[in-house]
Amino acid sequence: MRAAQEKGADALLVTHAPDVRYLSGFTGSSGALALTVGNPVSAALFTDGRYTTQAKTEAAGLRVAVGKGAPGGLAAAWLASRGSKKCAFDAVTTTVAELDGMRKAVPGSVRRSFLVASRGLVARLRERKDAEEIALVRRAANLGCRLFEHVLEKIVPGSTETDIALAMEFEARRAGAEAMSFETIVASGTRSALPHGRASAAKLLRRGFVTLDFGVLLEGYCSDMTRTVHLGRPTEQEWDVYHSVLEAQEAGVAAVAPGVRCGDVDEAARSVLRKAGLEKWFTHSTGHGVGLEIHEGPRLAAKQEQVLEQGMVVTIEPGVYLPGEFGVRIEDMVLVTEMGGEVLTAASPTAWMEL
Ligand code: ZN
Ligand code: ZN
Repeated sequence: MRAAQEKGADALLVTHAPDVRYLSGFTGSSGALALTVGNPVSAALFTDGRYTTQAKTEAAGLRVAVGKGAPGGLAAAWLASRGSKKCAFDAVTTTVAELDGMRKAVPGSVRRSFLVASRGLVARLRERKDAEEIALVRRAANLGCRLFEHVLEKIVPGSTETDIALAMEFEARRAGAEAMSFETIVASGTRSALPHGRASAAKLLRRGFVTLDFGVLLEGYCSDMTRTVHLGRPTEQEWDVYHSVLEAQEAGVAAVAPGVRCGDVDEAARSVLRKAGLEKWFTHSTGHGVGLEIHEGPRLAAKQEQVLEQGMVVTIEPGVYLPGEFGVRIEDMVLVTEMGGEVLTAASPTAWMEL
């Protein structure tokens, strides 16, 4: 709320589902949370008729209001009726249509100045996880490691990439996951050079890399990890590239600590690949935050000034992609602790694996 006040706002309107969930506990897809600044803070959760019972159960202790029309508009009207003059909303996640609806819902006399754009007010809060959230992220990460182990026997010549993804996804649901946290990537052979090679009908060949990038959604929290394994004997180049990526990944993990700039973590990983003459083929950033969303803050990219804080959970995932040849990526989830970084996906080793 302090951040909202700094914007000159006396209220906050939250519509992005993960933000609403974070603040209220409500997990429905249609909700808006209205909060007024002041002591005490008054808050109300707006949703539609499909979610009445669920909202009252999940957001126990909060005033829950159900109405017709978009929840954002209902929330804006409620705030205006309580005398709010300036209400902060999130410019990153609010659509133009939602904003239009919110604007039209308030009286003409205050409409022009009522809504003030802010960036990531709640997203910023969500970056640092509390003990309960860390426990949930840990469980999701552990399940990810178990899934990888589970599909290893399926990674054989002749299996299709989809066979492997399916086996993983089936087991994930059986173990209690609500869903995968994103579309499972299984990229074999020359397809491993595609950083986002989602599982296809391609059959695994007798020789070459297979990259698996996957995660689960477990009790609302995401996991995200990548392992690259090799079928058959590697060429010298494959072996060297894998070990350069591994060295870069380990350097990135080692750089994680509270107070360290995100850009410096990126540089720790990137500089290893630079020395190996592979930087040109590392075409994305080193990592991202993970939590209620698969991609959230902070961003671990070149020149990012933001510093890591205790309780953040980030990925470290350098990769090298040689078009038409092969690619390697290795990704772990790392919790920022008082001491440095704790790898949450350590149950699944990153050492060279030949199947
Ligand atoms: Zn990933
Ligand atoms: Zn990732």
